[in-house]
Amino acid sequence: MAGRWKHDRVLIVGGGPVGSLAALLLARRGVPVTVLEAEPELVIDYRASTIHPPTLDLLEDCGATRFMLDNGLKCPVWQYRDRNEGTVAEFDLSMLSGDTRYPYRVQCEQFKLTGFLYGEIARVPGTALHFSHRVVDLAVDDDGATATVETPAGRTTIGADFVIGTDGGRSTVRKLLDIPFDGYTHPEHFLVSGTRFDFKAAMPGICSVNYTADPVEWYLLLQIPDMWRIIMPVDPSVEAPDAITDGYIQNALQNLLPRAEPYEIIVRGIYRVSQRVAHSYRRGRAFLAGDAAHINNPLGGMGLNGGLHDALSLTDRLSRVWHGEADDALLDGYEAQRRPEAINAINAITERNKRLLEEREPEVRRRSLDELRRMAADPAATYQFLLQTSMIASLRWSGML
Ligand SMILES: Cc1cc2nc3c(=O)[nH]c(=O)nc-3n(C[C@H](O)[C@H](O)[C@H](O)COP(=O)(O)OP(=O)(O)OC[C@H]3O[C@@H](n4cnc5c(N)ncnc54)[C@H](O)[C@@H]3O)c2cc1C
Repeated sequence: MAGRWKHDRVLIVGGGPVGSLAALLLARRGVPVTVLEAEPELVIDYRASTIHPPTLDLLEDCGATRFMLDNGLKCPVWQYRDRNEGTVAEFDLSMLSGDTRYPYRVQCEQFKLTGFLYGEIARVPGTALHFSHRVVDLAVDDDGATATVETPAGRTTIGADFVIGTDGGRSTVRKLLDIPFDGYTHPEHFLVSGTRFDFKAAMPGICSVNYTADPVEWYLLLQIPDMWRIIMPVDPSVEAPDAITDGYIQNALQNLLPRAEPYEIIVRGIYRVSQRVAHSYRRGRAFLAGDAAHINNPLGGMGLNGGLHDALSLTDRLSRVWHGEADDALLDGYEAQRRPEAINAINAITERNKRLLEEREPEVRRRSLDELRRMAADPAATYQFLLQTSMIASLRWSGML
């Protein structure tokens, strides 16, 4: 009911994929939205690309699924490998065809999804997306929130009835709300590089998504539509700027697969990786979603997926409250629904994946790989494992599927 609220808008701080999805979903349900993005334009970086089956189910209505299918790569099969032993276990998501309309992962870079969402937001009257608008302060009371924003024209304040912090792992909103971010940060960085070199032709038997264990240097080899991406750890003794040099990356790739020619390196990036979950997802009229609420390592491709699920849950609740169809208690259900998934599913599975890939103790390593082999040979166990790792199990638990 327009006019019932003091400021007549929801403010979204951070126009990454999670903030953009939240904006589109609210706008399409008749809630006026303003998005503030600190950067001057769409941020292009090579973080998320894996989108899991239930995320595709849940994003069908807003058009994002069609977009990702048209612009991504369908990957029904993924592998655990070992640097010395080759394939350890192979998992085929078509086993989930009774559980999802999309029994495969789609590899579509997150900046493409965000660009699509920007385009869709622009079509809905009453929504605004402002680049080069960095929130530096926030006051929240019973009537709403007021953000102090640095803009190219100087400092200004913007009022809103509700505010959603989707401003990433280092969230200013979370810090201003004084919400602890419990967890830990790994000592090593993760290096991401990309090349057009065709690993499938050179490594017979590999598929588009490969998690490769090694006690010295594990790696994740991932095909996206126009290149292969490699994610690997960087020894903590190496400074981040030294790890993104041509020499370092060339050496790492030659180590992975020696060849006479140098690799053509077309993208590179280096990331600090943490496992953390915000102590609370709500403070009065302010909410956290996406990396602002939970961050995890990328081994399993779950951070962005979980953030998109946050946006779906929160915007459904907020739009019902906005239109007078539900009362405030529905908003409390957001944290109750989403925070356990971050802890029990996203964090737990990604931590388990990292431990498995990097295990150095030969006996523990042997047992883990044998366990994987046994599971892959047992259809009932494989099915349960796929429900978990595709996020279907946790979404069912939380009532989102
Ligand atoms: C190497 C790597 C690979 C990954 N792969 C996967 C994967 O395959 N699948 C998966 O699900 N997840 C993956 N992730 C995780 C995924 O990238 C994140 O979960 C995702 O980016 C979270 O989106 P977000 O919108 O919450 O935050 P972000 O993408 O970090 O966006 C936050 C936005 O807020 C803006 N901002 C920050 N501060 C302010 C401020 N004060 N005012 C206004 N704006 C602000 C930033 O400029 C940015 O645009 C990966 C992560 C890494 C590091």
